[in-house]
Amino acid sequence: MGRKVLILTEVKDGKLRQVSLEALSVAQQIADGEEIIAALFGDDSTEILSEISLYGAHKLYTSTEASLSVYTTDAYTQALVQLIQEVGAEVVLMGHTGVGKDLAPRASARLGAGLVTDCTGVESVDGNVIFTRPIYAGKAFQKKSFKKGILFATLRANNFAVKESPVRTEIVSFQPTIKDLRTIVKEVVRKAVGGVDLSEAKVVVSGGRGVKGAEGFQTLQALADVLGGAVGASRGACDAEYCDYSMQIGQTGKVVTPDLYIACGISGAIQHVAGMSNSKVIVAINKDPEAPIFQLADYGIVGDLFEVVPLLTEECKKVLS
Ligand code: FAD
Repeated sequence: MGRKVLILTEVKDGKLRQVSLEALSVAQQIADGEEIIAALFGDDSTEILSEISLYGAHKLYTSTEASLSVYTTDAYTQALVQLIQEVGAEVVLMGHTGVGKDLAPRASARLGAGLVTDCTGVESVDGNVIFTRPIYAGKAFQKKSFKKGILFATLRANNFAVKESPVRTEIVSFQPTIKDLRTIVKEVVRKAVGGVDLSEAKVVVSGGRGVKGAEGFQTLQALADVLGGAVGASRGACDAEYCDYSMQIGQTGKVVTPDLYIACGISGAIQHVAGMSNSKVIVAINKDPEAPIFQLADYGIVGDLFEVVPLLTEECKKVLS
């Protein structure tokens, strides 16, 4: 027995977020013949609309309501709750992004619905949708399902296969009633421009206190550039002001699940591991053979990162050029 699924998609830098494509693909599995409905607030570019139809959405609700052009908790909560009620969605999916983390608890609470956050797996068993999520900083996994009511879930990026399933998507103009806004965004100033989004990157080159300074991070950036990846950091490196906190990976930073994670000069504290242990392949470069990161790593290089990383960069250049 399938379920009617609504996916709140997100656009970043003019492109549909990878995790939104993953959510659309998960919806195909859950819907099992029922309707798949996508929502896109604040963007109606034809390119994005046609991309969504490649991933199985039967309907796409778009809204050009001015208060939805930039994310605010108030406006998006009102719009999403109204849309869920209008279409009669049984399952609501979104990315475990800044927006998803903020919006899903608020909207699900308004509807008295169950919410599973940061999901890394989904299965349908006898009509029940069961979500898997990490607990205890990634040391164990929990399976959760709700037998009654609407089910909300936020999905961790890079955990679900993207599956194309082209359909004819009906585009529906949605005009929610938005009122009593407590927040009005007057201007958005971006901290950094360009580069690969860390939370969705397929390759992450990460630096810790062993990188010794901002200059050391340029060495890591060179390797990330060759591999088409992003640069992350431990909190040790952020606290030491070698790099910005937006790059922090771990329990109190970003959670990443790349295909390849290269930890350079990172000891492997539990709080760091919580943010990267689900990476598919982990490479550790550390001059201390006893560093805990080696217990987790698939490949370990005992050595000075200032010698190893430039050599690795040159070799990767040769192989990839
Ligand atoms: P260190 O532990 O100092 O390790 C540096 C490593 O670099 C060492 O292993 C050393 O051998 C190696 N090294 C030094 N020079 C070189 C070289 N030239 N070449 C190769 N290797 C070299 N941490 C996070 O990362 N993310 C979090 O989200 C996070 N949240 C936290 C939340 C709480 C509540 C608390 C209490 C802590 C949190 N921490 C977090 C901090 C965490 O406990 C560690 O202190 C931190 O991860 C250590 O960072 P590090 O590995 O860069 O530094």
